[in-house]
Amino acid sequence: METIRFDELNLDPRILRAVTDMGFEAASPIQAQAIPVEMEGHDMIGQAQTGTGKTAAFSIPIIQRLYLQKKKGYKRGIKALILTPTRELAIQIGESFAAYGRFAGLRHTVIFGGVGQKPQTEALERGIDILIATPGRLLDLIGQGFIHLDTLEYFVLDEADRMLDMGFYDDIMQVHKQLPPYCQTIMFSATMPPKIRTLAKTILKD
Ligand code: AMP
Repeated sequence: METIRFDELNLDPRILRAVTDMGFEAASPIQAQAIPVEMEGHDMIGQAQTGTGKTAAFSIPIIQRLYLQKKKGYKRGIKALILTPTRELAIQIGESFAAYGRFAGLRHTVIFGGVGQKPQTEALERGIDILIATPGRLLDLIGQGFIHLDTLEYFVLDEADRMLDMGFYDDIMQVHKQLPPYCQTIMFSATMPPKIRTLAKTILKD
């Protein structure tokens, strides 16, 4: 596949600047393939391991689209949810949103279990555009009424195969049930065993 540069991906100058400031010039193969599909609003499943640039492959289009929507003015509420299996991944994804989104004026927070929920619920109450979460704490805070997914427009299931290996199938389905019908769904998985194909058929519409 020919190399695609970030300046060929129709990114807003603010998003492009954040990406080039990090020293990135060429999009990685997963980025070159996924970003255009995501920007068109399609549901998508991408096969990519950690280290391939998959985090930017889903973060950059979400930041770009939310930034453009926000400029026009939109209702408060969580617009993007990234569901990921572990606290470490959640923190890393939060750092990516901070880096690629640093000129976009969007707010994000990261929630995971094993720590007190107060700083997390305070961040939620201040208002965020993007939520990065592990399943247990997410469902817990939804149950307590701190999180509503009715304004969601982008749902990313990160490391889907690992999620299933860790026993999160029921949690994924519970989250999926609460998504508004027009929500764009993006899945990433390092491997594509039959159970991942079945999950994709269940949660992807397009
Ligand atoms: P990930 O696969 O998302 O965990 O990303 C792996 C690492 O690659 C991260 O440290 C990114 O900062 C870096 N990275 C992502 N995309 C690119 C790119 N297009 N060019 C150079 N480095 C990148």
